[in-house]
Amino acid sequence: MGRVVGIDLGTTNSVVAVIEGGKPIVIANAEGFRTTPSVVGFNKEGELVVGQMARRQAVLHPKNTFYGVKRFIGRKYSELEPESKRVAYTVRRDRSDNIKIPCPQIEKTFAPEEISARILQKLAEDAEKYLGEAVTGAVITVPAYFNDAQRQATRDAGKIAGLDVKRIINEPTAAALAYGLEKRNYQTILVFDIGGGTFDVSILDIKDNLFEVRATCGDSQLGGDDFDKRIVDWLAEQFLQQEGVDLRKERQSLQRLMEAAEKAKIELSGVKVTEINLPFITATAEGPKHLETRLTRSQFEDLCGDLVGRLRKPIKRAMSDAGITPPEIDEVVLVGGSSRIPMVQQLVRSFIDIEPNKGVNPDEVVAVGAAIQAGMLGGEVKDILLLDVTPISIGLETIGGINKKLLPRNTTIPTRRSDVFSTGENNQTMVEIHVVQGEREMARDNKSLGRFKLTGIPPAPRGVPQVQVSFDIDANGILQVTARDRTTGREQGITIQGASNLSDGEIERMMREAAQYAREDREKRERVEKRNKARALVDKAQRTLKEVTLDFGSQFVSYHRRRIEALCNEITESLRENDERAIDRAESDLRDALYELNREVKWQYEEDDEIDLFGAIKRTFTGEREEDYWPSNSGYREREDYRYGGGYYDNEDRRDYETRDDRDYYGDRRNSRGDYSRSSRYDDYPPEQSSRRGRTSNRNNIPRQNNWDEDDDDEWY
Ligand code: AMP
Repeated sequence: MGRVVGIDLGTTNSVVAVIEGGKPIVIANAEGFRTTPSVVGFNKEGELVVGQMARRQAVLHPKNTFYGVKRFIGRKYSELEPESKRVAYTVRRDRSDNIKIPCPQIEKTFAPEEISARILQKLAEDAEKYLGEAVTGAVITVPAYFNDAQRQATRDAGKIAGLDVKRIINEPTAAALAYGLEKRNYQTILVFDIGGGTFDVSILDIKDNLFEVRATCGDSQLGGDDFDKRIVDWLAEQFLQQEGVDLRKERQSLQRLMEAAEKAKIELSGVKVTEINLPFITATAEGPKHLETRLTRSQFEDLCGDLVGRLRKPIKRAMSDAGITPPEIDEVVLVGGSSRIPMVQQLVRSFIDIEPNKGVNPDEVVAVGAAIQAGMLGGEVKDILLLDVTPISIGLETIGGINKKLLPRNTTIPTRRSDVFSTGENNQTMVEIHVVQGEREMARDNKSLGRFKLTGIPPAPRGVPQVQVSFDIDANGILQVTARDRTTGREQGITIQGASNLSDGEIERMMREAAQYAREDREKRERVEKRNKARALVDKAQRTLKEVTLDFGSQFVSYHRRRIEALCNEITESLRENDERAIDRAESDLRDALYELNREVKWQYEEDDEIDLFGAIKRTFTGEREEDYWPSNSGYREREDYRYGGGYYDNEDRRDYETRDDRDYYGDRRNSRGDYSRSSRYDDYPPEQSSRRGRTSNRNNIPRQNNWDEDDDDEWY
């Protein structure tokens, strides 16, 4: 078996590392550098060039040189912001809205995954040369905010490169892993990672060799490239004013501007002023033109002030998600090349009043962490556990359009959550599982991840069928949803793939909206829940009437029937007219009516029990038959009802109680294990217990077929 390496597949640069002799080492590429530009190109001969070579030819062959492709991986064309489409090569959409990158030189079109695969391939090959062994597997890192489609696409890129992708892990998690190896005693760490194209902030707990990511937040459209673009625009605008030529419109000029801007930016991290010289940047009718200017650090800071401002929000959000305040953070770890920008470091310092830790090389720390993870999987590194979290809630649409979150954001992964749901209509033989991602209360306000149908459910009253829906997120954050009909065992499922995943911009927007509309959403949800509850209560009342009539006869129930039926009608009418107050009133009256009815039923049963007991004693001593001791007014007919109506209390009906009485149609009152939670089961109904419990024999000594557990049935009412 070959080696497993750790790869930081960056937007701008990539790094490969491996565990050697129990320690992580960064592997230099064939050109002798420890970082490899994430650039892929085809030269004039149509030969593939990757890394430094590709980067060098970018000026000459801008259309055949692909950089920053990580911004496109796993995304739809329509999800891209205009900003990210502004590259020197062509980015197209195909008929399915997938991103395609044409390469005119070899007349071929690539998917972003294929381009990323070339980078992975080069890194693996360089590692093979260094190790003198085959590299067959990899742990690849992604920004914490990558959604499922982006993770999946990264994994696919690994596959295309011929690698067995053992894990996809979050970059900040990897960084902390690398960092924690040296300093394990820290409690809470904030990892601040800003590279070429993405920004992540994560809060991790590190204790006793256990890493737990408490929260992650970020902006995958913010990185060093954006700082470069500000300089590019500044230079181009100046040139436009002076020479009347927009250099951004000429590919070669743009490429050179971008390179010069990045160089200036990097220099300004060390010095206060830098020169930018671009001879022969273009030519006009007057002859060749040159660009010559100076950029100071303070000018640069003015140009990029708002970008730095954008770093604040994710920091705040991550801290609030983790439920901590700045003084509770023990360490700040800076990751990514752009974390070297003085203004960025200043921002972090102003936020969290401790000196950011730069002890681990920010360019390599992620790859080192990935190598450690690879080592853990291969058994070379022991005693470290790694937990990760989902960045955004995932749920499904339930009755009334409510988003029932099964995996709240920041749930530790890998994880599996399941819950039981039922039908909303009588004889419904198919349910549609609509999986959504987002924080809003109503499903339609969230991002739709996918839908599938579970068919072949045996016809039954609404609320009776039990459909178990399970959400599985693996260690790579890839989601699988299955739905199983408990009666028939039929199962359907989907793996949520690229088709319609969230763009990070969308995540940001949705988070904003969730906060903005929180109150409105809650009210909407409460309204829908109230209606569902009222409907369920009407169903329940009608069933109770039916059962009590069977047990004690219509005379016993007649007084209650009139009242209960009138209230049921009132609720149904109020529901139709959307009269919320009337619903409340009638619902409360109906609960009272049911309470009274049940109390009477209980007394009746207690009386019956006394007679049972008395009869049993008497029979023991006299040998008389049981029937002889029934009070005449209880009526033998009722006992006949038991005998012939026994089927009513079969398994189906037991489920009927569980689903319709004890739980909303959408299973809202089960706890995360899918069990019932006791406390919540009582809040709808009076705590009075039905005397049905534990009765295994009736007056005829005919065993009832209500074979529910004791445990369950003491809660049914
Ligand atoms: P990474 O993705 O971590 O390799 O980071 C790459 C980004 O960091 C690019 O935008 C680089 O221009 C930027 N970068 C690298 N070194 C520096 C530096 N010394 N000062 C400012 N930015 C830098």
